[in-house]
Amino acid sequence: MAGASSGSAMRSHNESLVIACLRNGAPMSRAQLAERLGLTRAAISRIIASMVERGLVQETGTRAAGGSGRPGRHLELSNAWVGIGLDARVDRTELVCLGMGGQVLRRETLDVPDGPSPEAFVSVATRSITALRKSMPGTFTGIGVALPAKVSDDRLEVKRSHHFGWDDVPLARMLSERMDLPVSLRHGAECAAVANARQPELIGSNRLLHVQVGSGLGLALTRNRDLDDTLPVGWGGAGHALLGDPKRLCICGRHGCVDTVVGFEAFAARGRAAGFGDVVVDQGMDGFAALVSREAAVGQCWALESLEELAEDLGRILAVFVAIEVPDGVTLGGYVTALGSDFLDRLDEIVSGHLRAKSPIVRTSAGADAPGLGAAMVGLSLIAEE
Ligand SMILES: [Zn+2]
Repeated sequence: MAGASSGSAMRSHNESLVIACLRNGAPMSRAQLAERLGLTRAAISRIIASMVERGLVQETGTRAAGGSGRPGRHLELSNAWVGIGLDARVDRTELVCLGMGGQVLRRETLDVPDGPSPEAFVSVATRSITALRKSMPGTFTGIGVALPAKVSDDRLEVKRSHHFGWDDVPLARMLSERMDLPVSLRHGAECAAVANARQPELIGSNRLLHVQVGSGLGLALTRNRDLDDTLPVGWGGAGHALLGDPKRLCICGRHGCVDTVVGFEAFAARGRAAGFGDVVVDQGMDGFAALVSREAAVGQCWALESLEELAEDLGRILAVFVAIEVPDGVTLGGYVTALGSDFLDRLDEIVSGHLRAKSPIVRTSAGADAPGLGAAMVGLSLIAEE
């Protein structure tokens, strides 16, 4: 029962520090942890003993040398503690289970109807998570939900989702009442940003700007591999900044939003006119993006024009964001990451031309799975604190 298990999930502030330390690096010995956290060996031994007992941390096979005193075993986070992530997109919803140790334990696509009502969404999610908890061992810490939506300051309500047509929906409460687990809502871009910032390509980078381009565009900033929590909730809703085409109408009712030129529907217009509309329905945004990439490779004009127009619009818009935020690096997510390396090379060229500097875009391996993975990381972070 989740009610009983959440009591034993309690952790102290020092345990949070140990978790953060082990999450961001290789396994460490007690001596290394004590040194890193500025705690005595006795204190760290006490904390670790309690964490090992509850299955949060386990000893690895290897023995650690170095440090002062006798060598001890390396410690790592255990996958017996599991975070659940829901990645609710316009064209599909995915469920990801992530162990505290970083292992993806389960990934499945949920049978959510198109344009779901909040009740329909919660009902499908509840059914799937209930089945999952019956079939999987482990202690579930919480549920993170990635949404194409603006959420409330406390991360419990959807304030507005143009794409789902939802207003003021208490989604976290609806899910948590049925699942008896804590739930936290995030914009999809925020979840993807966290997952990307923890990819091996970005170790050592501090301040990263993530740009998620799906049905609309969203931004998120990370610092030291976590969301920059000095920014207000709702920061990054740049899809409705007026940097698009002033002649095009946006779903928000205004003209000229960023989404009217880089949102998926704008990108798909040429492909639909060329008779590939059914690919969007059958294979979703990423499948359609892969098709455009293939068609461009064999010289199809509509595909080449689609890519060039997107590279110019997105390149110009990215250059504006980079000039304002001056991040150490930029990561991309959404359908644009499925457009192939020729497109990304061209995008680098355009951004670099605008900035008169090397393009800050870093290609990571998180790809299309990033929002679900990041949502599960949010789910893991909900393990209760004392
Ligand atoms: Zn708009």
